[in-house]
Amino acid sequence: RAKKHLGQHFLTDQNIARDIVDSLSLEGYKKVLEVGPGMGVLTKFLLEKDVETYVAEIDNESIDYLKKHYPKLEEQHFVGDFLKTDIPTVFGDEELAVIGNFPYNISSQILFKIIDNFQYVPEMSGMFQKEVAERTSGIPRTKEYGILSVLVQAYYDVEYLFTVHENVFNPPPKVKSGVIRMTRNLKPGLAGNEVLFKQIVKAGFGQRRKKMSNSLKVLGIPEAISSHRFLDIRAEELSVADFIDFTNEWKSSLGV
Ligand code: SAM
Repeated sequence: RAKKHLGQHFLTDQNIARDIVDSLSLEGYKKVLEVGPGMGVLTKFLLEKDVETYVAEIDNESIDYLKKHYPKLEEQHFVGDFLKTDIPTVFGDEELAVIGNFPYNISSQILFKIIDNFQYVPEMSGMFQKEVAERTSGIPRTKEYGILSVLVQAYYDVEYLFTVHENVFNPPPKVKSGVIRMTRNLKPGLAGNEVLFKQIVKAGFGQRRKKMSNSLKVLGIPEAISSHRFLDIRAEELSVADFIDFTNEWKSSLGV
């Protein structure tokens, strides 16, 4: 029986499972980590590929099921709770792709964890609730565009691949789902200024309806950029590149 608190909704459509797995390029890395394999609907197709499959699953019943039905999955390739998995400790310097039909209750945490480990993760394909998939791929001046869009797109190019209907899950979730692919592409100018960048993005969208001059007050806007043109508009009007430029001007105005 599915466990609600673990976000368990098992995909029953084999074609959709195959499409998600096939969306990985499988280029430039040899390992794939699947988050939340459940009963292995994606795992089965991954195991047919020429990659080493690792699985992060916290539900013991699912783990027992996977061990029994997928003998190709090696014992030492089970890593447990994804949010508690320290990627470089488990995988060293080796790059790996991440894939999953993710547990929707921890979608943002999963995305933030991938960003924090972007140097190890060149690619990610997976399913989130549709709204999260849309926010991740959101563009300026839309209601979907926000913290998740800017932070993810600063590190990855994001493509919204397709929408998945509730009725291909057991039990069906309350909302539609969306599959996205993220391909690493660290945007120019971000390296070295990531901490300030994240603070500015989060504070900027903290008060969506207000101009940046207002929403960034909490950070203490440096005098030297207090009449910057971006301060006169709202966060949702700024592109990812604008946020990076602004961060860099902020930083250099501090003389550091
Ligand atoms: N991949 C399967 C499928 O498509 O049918 C299951 C998907 S289900 C939406 C999400 C899965 O994530 C469940 O199997 C659940 O036990 C697992 N899960 C929940 N929290 C997790 C965590 N922190 N780390 C790893 N797996 C987790």
